[in-house]
Amino acid sequence: MYLFHPTHPRTAFIRVLIALALVLSGHMAQASWLSDEQAIMGTQVSVTLWHQDAVRGEQLLAQVMAEMRRIDAAYSPFKEYSELSQMNRAAAQHSAEQPLTISAEMSRLLDKALYYGRLTEGAFDITFASLARYYDYRNASQPSQLQRRQLLPAIDYRHVKLDHIGHTVYYSQPQVYVDLGGIAKGYAVDRAIELLRQAGVRHASVSAGGDSRVLGDKRGRPWLVGIKPPRGDQTHAAITLPLNDSAISTSGDYERYFIDADGERIHHIINPHTGKSSSELASVSIIGPNSFDADALSTSVFVLGGDKGLKLINTLPEFDAIVITRSGKVRYSSGLVAPE
Ligand code: ADP
Ligand code: MG
Repeated sequence: MYLFHPTHPRTAFIRVLIALALVLSGHMAQASWLSDEQAIMGTQVSVTLWHQDAVRGEQLLAQVMAEMRRIDAAYSPFKEYSELSQMNRAAAQHSAEQPLTISAEMSRLLDKALYYGRLTEGAFDITFASLARYYDYRNASQPSQLQRRQLLPAIDYRHVKLDHIGHTVYYSQPQVYVDLGGIAKGYAVDRAIELLRQAGVRHASVSAGGDSRVLGDKRGRPWLVGIKPPRGDQTHAAITLPLNDSAISTSGDYERYFIDADGERIHHIINPHTGKSSSELASVSIIGPNSFDADALSTSVFVLGGDKGLKLINTLPEFDAIVITRSGKVRYSSGLVAPE
């Protein structure tokens, strides 16, 4: 046939085109597991996903990391121009008559945080940082007695006056300082999973430090998510859970801490009523449908302690808890205990 005469230049050209198309489509259609890990939000963010099209999958990994960086830039207390830092500088100067306008997203974060403040009667309290901002775990320093006396009254989530419909806020106490460290990573993980789900991804795992969530299964097998032994030794158990379509958030006293002169472990989960580290538990893991709530609940139960914390979780049908005490005892919420 003329068209495909083996030596005709047009035939050669068409062959090159076909070869190119094959290479490209072969490359694009290559299904595979893809993953990336980056340091964001003061922790390691890792994302693993399965995609039919490796090129598209790589794009999605990059989009997720960009979204994590956006959230960090907006809600980090360490970035001078984050929306959080700007709110902390301004909100006490505003009033009921002239509240401060905030983003719809900030409003949503505050609304959820204040909800957990009410639910836990102040065990979860984003104003903990009014005093706790003066802890420096890296340099092993703590707030002075004077700071404690002056700033403890500023810890009360009820000082944060939010209008979650109009997206405005003001602080009713001049010393209030909000930190979203107990909830922002969970929010970020949910955003990542939602982004992937909307892009059609059916198997993925996202984690930011102690907050993890998995989408679907691991192609025929459950995802395996581990709970670290809090002291990294034999007295504490290592626990691995098989999970599909779930979130797990762990709060521990071993990530950011120092041992003070009295031999006490000073760590980053603060009892808002005392302004001091919560000392009963070593680790709390919450399992549930999403990370936003699981993150707030893991911090909450850590502060509430084993008895009150498990009692709270037992009233929330969608959530379960695994609590490890400092002496290594493991306790479970009722949903994880087989009925007798
Ligand atoms: P991480 O994943 O950083 O270990 P956690 O979920 O364990 O986070 O929460 C600890 C963080 O929560 C602290 O670093 C601090 O920013 C914040 N936090 C500490 N105490 C409280 C509290 N009582 N209420 C709300 N947030 C808190
Ligand atoms: Mg938390």
